[in-house]
Amino acid sequence: MPQWLTDGAPHVWRPYCQMKTAPAPLAVARTRGARIILEDGRELVDGIASWWTACHGYNHPHIAAAVMAQLDRAPHVMFGGLAHEPAYRLASRLAALLPGELDHVFFAESGSVAVEISMKMALQYWINRGVAGRTKFVSFLGGYHGDTLATMTICDPEEGMHGLFSGVMPAQHVVALPRDAESEAALDALLAEKGHEIAALIVEPRVQGAGGMLLHDDSVLATLRRLADRHGLLLIFDEIFTGFGRTGDLFACSGSGVIPDIVTLSKALTGGTLPLSAAIASRKVFEAFWSDDAGAALMHGPTYMANPLACAAANASLDLFESGSWKADVARISAALAEGLEPCRGAPGVVDVRTLGAIGVVEFAQAVDAGGLCARFAELGCWIRPMGKVVYLTPPFVTSDAEMARLTGAIRAVVGA
Ligand SMILES: *Cc1c(COP(=O)(O)O)cnc(C)c1O
Repeated sequence: MPQWLTDGAPHVWRPYCQMKTAPAPLAVARTRGARIILEDGRELVDGIASWWTACHGYNHPHIAAAVMAQLDRAPHVMFGGLAHEPAYRLASRLAALLPGELDHVFFAESGSVAVEISMKMALQYWINRGVAGRTKFVSFLGGYHGDTLATMTICDPEEGMHGLFSGVMPAQHVVALPRDAESEAALDALLAEKGHEIAALIVEPRVQGAGGMLLHDDSVLATLRRLADRHGLLLIFDEIFTGFGRTGDLFACSGSGVIPDIVTLSKALTGGTLPLSAAIASRKVFEAFWSDDAGAALMHGPTYMANPLACAAANASLDLFESGSWKADVARISAALAEGLEPCRGAPGVVDVRTLGAIGVVEFAQAVDAGGLCARFAELGCWIRPMGKVVYLTPPFVTSDAEMARLTGAIRAVVGA
């Protein structure tokens, strides 16, 4: 174990971690492409792209060069009263890439904060329009929207991370996705009864990620749009996981043809290089804030909002999406996942195997021993971190065929397929 790890371990409080019993984390020396290189010299193929961020792989030279150039020019300036090219260019590019009138980009530094901002936009949208009492949200079972207090209230309450806090924050309506006539009628009835106190519906489109990589059809999103319109409510898509090619389309909203009123982005926004997020509002939402009344402004502004280094990384990442082979890569990885994981169907305890875009999932009947499995995957040269009942892969789009074979082979070996 390197000295820095021994020295620092008593002082670093790690994520989602029982500090007393958790095994020591793996010490990382470097990263490159789809690989994490450990201090002891081992190379792991990263099967989850560092929590779904490193879509182009690590240390991409184009992103690195952009960040380096910006570091020399201006690493950071406050965004209140000051403007810089990386953020303004990024905002106009995101507006052009997103469908419909999703044109108004508010930057922040983390996914949870972007979701909080989208909730605040929705609440104040109604206040600014003189409609009182719309203080609640509708979200969906299986959903995950962040770890901050307000975002915890719209996560699935049964889902491991936040159950402890039930009762601490105001309860929201967390209900079943309208997948069939029955659940659609139930949601329709809820909105008919409670719509006057609801500001918005919020959903992770196509894939509920942290809740267990649960997939739903685009028809579910069309139903949500229809119900939101029928009851005059805003619809928020949390695309923090699904954005930037992961499902096979650049965004779930563009691929599904269902356009929300607000969309949140983060994770792969900078290609996994620096923290950055955005809540992007439609013209309709933005117009509720456009006023001669200073009090109607959106009162929000994170200190590191629109950090120039992060925006430069995001612009460079968008260059790669514009010029690049991401679509073919996602299709190639999707095929490798489907083929490589299919034999797991029928393995002991496995109840489902599914793939969408560059997401491959093996689901078990029971929660898996995440720590134990993670260690076995590392022995097989892979960084794979199971979550609840699922062992999943969300590799960087640059993962080679041989690296894909290592990842899916490790899962088959560990699962006993
Ligand atoms: C990861 C995630 C978040 C939270 O983002 P952080 O940057 O971890 O705060 C919110 N919503 C979705 C869908 C996510 O996947």
